[in-house]
Amino acid sequence: MGKEKYDKVESDIMTHGHNPYDIVKGLLKESVQSLGFHENIYQMLKKPMRVFEVSIPIRMDDGRIESFTGYRSQHIDILGPTKGGIRFHPDVNLDEVKALSIWMSLKSAIIDLPFGGGKGGVIVDPEKLTERELELLSRNYIKKITPIIGPQKDIPAPDVNTNPKVMGWMTDEFDQLRGYNIPGMLTGKPVVLGGSLGRLEATGRGVVFTIREACRVLDINMKEATAAIQGFGNVGSMTAKFLHELGVKVVAVTDAKGGIYKEEGLDIPDLLAFTNKGENYASKYEKAEPITNKKMFALPVDILIPAAVENQVTKENAPTIQAKILAEAANGPTTPAGDQILEQKGTFVIPDILCNAGGVTVSYFEWVQNNMNYYWKVDEINKQLEEKMLAGFEKVIQMRDEKGCRMRDAAYMVGITQLVKAMDARGWIG
Ligand code: GLU
Repeated sequence: MGKEKYDKVESDIMTHGHNPYDIVKGLLKESVQSLGFHENIYQMLKKPMRVFEVSIPIRMDDGRIESFTGYRSQHIDILGPTKGGIRFHPDVNLDEVKALSIWMSLKSAIIDLPFGGGKGGVIVDPEKLTERELELLSRNYIKKITPIIGPQKDIPAPDVNTNPKVMGWMTDEFDQLRGYNIPGMLTGKPVVLGGSLGRLEATGRGVVFTIREACRVLDINMKEATAAIQGFGNVGSMTAKFLHELGVKVVAVTDAKGGIYKEEGLDIPDLLAFTNKGENYASKYEKAEPITNKKMFALPVDILIPAAVENQVTKENAPTIQAKILAEAANGPTTPAGDQILEQKGTFVIPDILCNAGGVTVSYFEWVQNNMNYYWKVDEINKQLEEKMLAGFEKVIQMRDEKGCRMRDAAYMVGITQLVKAMDARGWIG
C-alpha cells in the first residue's frame, strides 16, 4: 500500500483517538480499496450484523444487587457460524467488542476456518469478585445471551480473564437450560467436558509458529535470539514456554503489576512453576531484576511480543522499539500512529489477526470433535495447527510480496478476499 494513501487514513483515524472500532474500519476501508473492490464491500463489512447488550444483575456476597453490563457482537456469518471469545475486563465497551468481532472474522478467513467473527465481553474487574460472584456472573451472562448463541449460530470461547473453569460453568448453564448436553456450543472447555487437548497451549503455540516463520524470512537464528513479552496470562506464558523450548532467550516479562528482567534469560520453566502455583503475577517472581513496561519495550531484543490488550504500541513508545520482529499475540496492540513508526523503522510486524489465530484454530478442532463425538490425540491437533498456521503465514507473505505492502495490510487483504469469495458465491455481489 502506498504510503500517501496510508497517511490519509492515519489522519482520519487519529481524529478518533484510539478507538479500536474506528481503527479496524480505517484498515478495512484501505484494504478494500487496495484490492480494487467496490466501496460496497466495505459497506457490507464495516458493521457487525448483530450486537446484543445485556444487563446481568448479581446478588453480591454482601447481599447487594449489582447490575453488570455485557455484550455480544456477531460480525458476519457467511463463512459459517460466528465464533470468538468472551472477555471480562473493566475497559470492555461496545466499540471494543465490535472491533474484536471483526478481527475474529478476518482471523478465521485467513486460516480458512468455516467461521465468521463474534466476540463478547462483560464490564467487570474479576479480581474484585469472589469465586461465587464470578460463577454467578458467568452463568448469568451465558443465560442472557442464550437466544443468540448455539453450535450452529455463534460459539463463544475464552478471552482476556476467562478460562476453562469459566467455560465449564457456562457449558453447564447452557446444557441445563436446553435440557441435554451440547458440547459444541462453546470451546476452550475443560477436557473432561469435551474440551480439546492442546487448546490451552494453542494460541501461544501458534504465536511461536509465526515467529519461527518470521525468523526464517529475516534469517534470524532462534537459538541466538532474545525476546521480551508484555503479559503473562494464558497467551504470554505459553508463548514464553514455546520460545524457550526453541532456544530463544526470554529476557523480560511485564504484567499489570510490574516487570522482571534477566540479561542472561529468565528461567522460564521455573517462572511457569511459580505462576502455576497460584501466583497471578509473573512480576512478583523474585529471581530477576525489576523492569518497567516502558523500559521493556525499548530493550535491544530481537522479538517483542505484546500479549495483553489493545493500544500498547503507540507513537510515544514505538520510536524506542529496537526489536526486529513485533509479534502481536494480543488483539489490536498497535495504534495506527505506532504502526506508521514501525513501518518507517522497518520492523517486521506479525499482525494480530495472523499471529494469535492459533487459539481459534484449535477451537475449531474442538468444535469438530464435539460435533462428531470422537476425540483426537494431541499430536494430531498440534500437527494440524502447525499446517494451518503455516498456510496462513504463507498466504499473507505472498499477498505482501504481490502488493508490496505491509504485513498488516496483507493480512487484511487475505481475510477480505476470502470473505468476498463467500459473498460472491452467495450472490451478494452484482
Ligand atoms: N479469544 C481468542 C481470540 O481472540 C480465541 C477465540 C476462540 O477460540 O474462538 O482469538
